Amino acid sequence: MGLVIRGGTVVNAGERFEADVKVEGRTVSGIGSNLPKTSADTEIDAAGRYVLPGFIDPHVHMELPFMGMVSIDDFESGTASGIAGGTTSIIDFCIPAPGTSMLDALKVWRERSAKATADYSYHMAITSWGENTADEMRAVVRDHGITSFKVFMAYKGAIMVDDHALYHVMKVAAETGAVVTVHAENGDVVWNLQRELLAKGLTGPEYHPVSRPSAIEGEATERALTMARLHGTTAYIVHMTCKESVHALERAKLGGQQCYGETCPQYLLLDDRVFHKPDFGGSAYVMSPPIRPLHLGHHDALWSGLSNGMLDSIGTDHCPFTHQQKLAGASDFTKIPNGAAGIEDRLAILYTHGVVGGRFSLERLVELGATAPARIFGLEKKGTVAVGMDADLVIFDPNAKSVRSAKTHFSRADRSIFEGFEVRGRVDRTIVGGRVAFENGKLMAERGSGRFIARKPTHFARHPEVRS
Ligand SMILES: [Zn+2]
Repeated sequence: MGLVIRGGTVVNAGERFEADVKVEGRTVSGIGSNLPKTSADTEIDAAGRYVLPGFIDPHVHMELPFMGMVSIDDFESGTASGIAGGTTSIIDFCIPAPGTSMLDALKVWRERSAKATADYSYHMAITSWGENTADEMRAVVRDHGITSFKVFMAYKGAIMVDDHALYHVMKVAAETGAVVTVHAENGDVVWNLQRELLAKGLTGPEYHPVSRPSAIEGEATERALTMARLHGTTAYIVHMTCKESVHALERAKLGGQQCYGETCPQYLLLDDRVFHKPDFGGSAYVMSPPIRPLHLGHHDALWSGLSNGMLDSIGTDHCPFTHQQKLAGASDFTKIPNGAAGIEDRLAILYTHGVVGGRFSLERLVELGATAPARIFGLEKKGTVAVGMDADLVIFDPNAKSVRSAKTHFSRADRSIFEGFEVRGRVDRTIVGGRVAFENGKLMAERGSGRFIARKPTHFARHPEVRS
């Protein structure tokens, strides 16, 4: 029993062509014209529509315990929300409490993610440096198919690593062939600015961005890339928001360093006026790094980076908290849980403002949202529509129009940071592992049908500057 998708336009990174696509089991088995159909096959008419590889979200947090609460989408609702928006695989972050074992945390994440409706992997966070950390990193790569790590240079007093830890993480990652993903903000400076603002009685969500200026994101990006260069490590800077960090990445790339940059739709489309919404509405937008002001060139720097190749991928940092949860910071913005929903909005928002808006082609959007994350993070069977690849496919109607809203999205989030955004294009169908999981507005995603994808290390040290 398979599928034959007839008459659509297949769009991959760098190519588009009209073809039928045949799916057998979990795999794309044929691409061509007038592909034969057996009586057991289901035929899907894709005339006038695009057939895209399933999008991959390399940056999500499902049921993440953070700042004293747990983010509201679990692996089931979060991946289902992604499927409704054309995302068929995620990479979540496994985050052990500082001083605890990565392998113990991995057991917890495996239990939580067993109910996922889409395929998944994890980046392993390193939240402290101890005598067993290097050995655990090696075991994570060698025995568990996890070939990317995460460090937070922010969240002092919680999960922030210092330069000592950063140095060692970069060193061991290069030896094991893993990528290091980095949250780049100077957490010591943030900590001080937060305390100074609170001492002056400046406690509202509009002071969140004031406590995290773009300069300290640029500084941390530069520092992370320097640490990576010392050891020849491949670094991937997550959720870049500002021109200072884009410029740091540009300098490293132009110097020949192997490194990557990611941004998210909210940093492209929103600006810091959102923090002034009435009735504590600004709290919905509190995330780190913060949404930036207009007129300082940050948004343009990000858009340019996406079109000229200096930025490599678009994630979402999907990590929603309800308004009730956000109220924990009603009298102190530093206690507002950081995060918002986004996994369901990415494709339509970027198609509208990136492709229809004339910033880049649909082929480039496919590259940013599917092909590049698959290549960088080693999801070998994903990110391209081709024979032998996983049958994760999106049938996308470019002419439909709709409005994004928390009232209609599938996420459990009770707010949408894109509320009221008019978008062009709609996901008609999403196929995950050869099965239709979303069709004409109806979710058919099955709890537990997602699989863990083990990955192989490929990013071994390149031209280290130190020998140690
Ligand atoms: Zn994140």
